[in-house]
Amino acid sequence: MWPPPLIPNFAAVQESSIYELVVGLEVHAQLLTRTKLFCADPTDYGAVPNTQVSAISLAHPGTLPAMNEAAIGLAIKLGLALDCEIVKRNYFARKNYFYPDLPKGYQVSQHTAPICLGGSIGIMNGKERKQVILNRIHIEEDAGKSLHDQDALFTCIDLNRAGVPLLEIVTEPCIHCAEDAFLFLTELRKILRWTGVCDGNMEEGSMRCDANISIRKKGDTLLGKRVEVKNLNSIRNVKKAIEIEFDRLVKLTEEGKRIVQETRSFDADNQTTFSLRSKEEAEDYRYFPEPDLPLFHISDEWIAAIKAQMPELPEALSQRMQNEFGLSLYDASFLTSEREMAAFFENLIAAGTPPKAAANWISGPVKAYLNQEGTGILQFPLTPIRLTELILLVESGKLSFSIASGKLMPELIAQPQASATTLASDLKLFQTNNEADIRKWVDEVLQKFPEKLAEYKKGKKGLAGMFAGEVKKLSKGKADMQLTNSILLEQLNK
Ligand code: ADP
Ligand code: MG
Repeated sequence: MWPPPLIPNFAAVQESSIYELVVGLEVHAQLLTRTKLFCADPTDYGAVPNTQVSAISLAHPGTLPAMNEAAIGLAIKLGLALDCEIVKRNYFARKNYFYPDLPKGYQVSQHTAPICLGGSIGIMNGKERKQVILNRIHIEEDAGKSLHDQDALFTCIDLNRAGVPLLEIVTEPCIHCAEDAFLFLTELRKILRWTGVCDGNMEEGSMRCDANISIRKKGDTLLGKRVEVKNLNSIRNVKKAIEIEFDRLVKLTEEGKRIVQETRSFDADNQTTFSLRSKEEAEDYRYFPEPDLPLFHISDEWIAAIKAQMPELPEALSQRMQNEFGLSLYDASFLTSEREMAAFFENLIAAGTPPKAAANWISGPVKAYLNQEGTGILQFPLTPIRLTELILLVESGKLSFSIASGKLMPELIAQPQASATTLASDLKLFQTNNEADIRKWVDEVLQKFPEKLAEYKKGKKGLAGMFAGEVKKLSKGKADMQLTNSILLEQLNK
């Protein structure tokens, strides 16, 4: 159906419903290791199909897996970042099932004995702070990929992804509105990127999310039958799918129909979900400990070493920016949205920009430039040192902010060799505190608006600001505003 039916103001729909939404999320995050979980095949995305497949990835008889220590280290790192309990004694198990993209016929996974237990992620929904509780995080290997668009008759299999290390991050069924799911995933992705655990790229499938959704009467404590929605390739689609499912489950219930436990797929084009398979009978994966891999212990020393290298996390950094530099929550959140952005801010300060000015410049002109160019802070052409030179011209009153950001910054970007001071002087952008010039501009403005001047004299003192603005305009932003204001008041009140 096109255009798709819209669900207007979902939050309001939910508020007035007698049903409560219950959601638990399962997120798969591909670990940023160079090699796979149990062999040295590379993990690069986008390689020619079946070029990153040694005998181990292909599951040839007689091959043996070897554990990738870096993958375990990243799992511990995320666990520490999310306040999980790190389990010391670990093992992998085999999850047995048949599928064409699974050459071994089983997936090696910690499903039955996760490396991280508990933990949580804080989110801010408007002014309300909530904590999304995690159930566990475990390590597992990825399967290959079925390619349905390569051949008219056959499905092709690419095994490059087989054996790539994943974390599965599982929440408790504690999410009760679609917006919270959106905020949780945004926050989780930020932390994954910040810690270097995963690149969080949902389009490339390095972060994937399944949403488990059920409803119950408000006030009930037992969980209802759930559906699990897969193939959600963006955070926005997770939110959409939850809204659609809530609506569908409520309708089914009100029509007196039975909700069946099933796996559904999200259809982004039609904004619907459709059933993939029923899950009424629990699948039996015949889990047993992987005999080819030893038990492994995580030492306190290892945990301490990972802790010692942990970067300051975005939430703590945002708090510190607010306390130490007096930044607003809004500015601090923007500056800690990515680690590179925070680093740019800190480098600006290190170069001599006052913190408030640094925050204003980044969330103002710098962000506008990045949006316009469709690029990220790493591609910003001015180094913190060059930008600081420009900012300090404003701070010292030599240049107006509007000229500095609107004229000088673009010129500086176009001339990577020039210095801000030389360029401003060549382009005659500096503010003037030449009294004769300013008096001339003030006179001109007062003559231009005789009626306003009369109104002012009758007591409409608020017009002073308007006159000042006109002087600024006339001088093309070059008039020193402090001197302008004092001359202006002197002339107005004479
Ligand atoms: P499985 O491993 O079979 O998928 P789990 O019990 O580990 O099942 O749960 C997976 C996810 O589903 C978790 O995020 C959990 O919070 C969520 N979940 C479980 N039951 C419900 C329910 N009735 N409604 C919503 N979410 C649920
Ligand atoms: Mg599941």
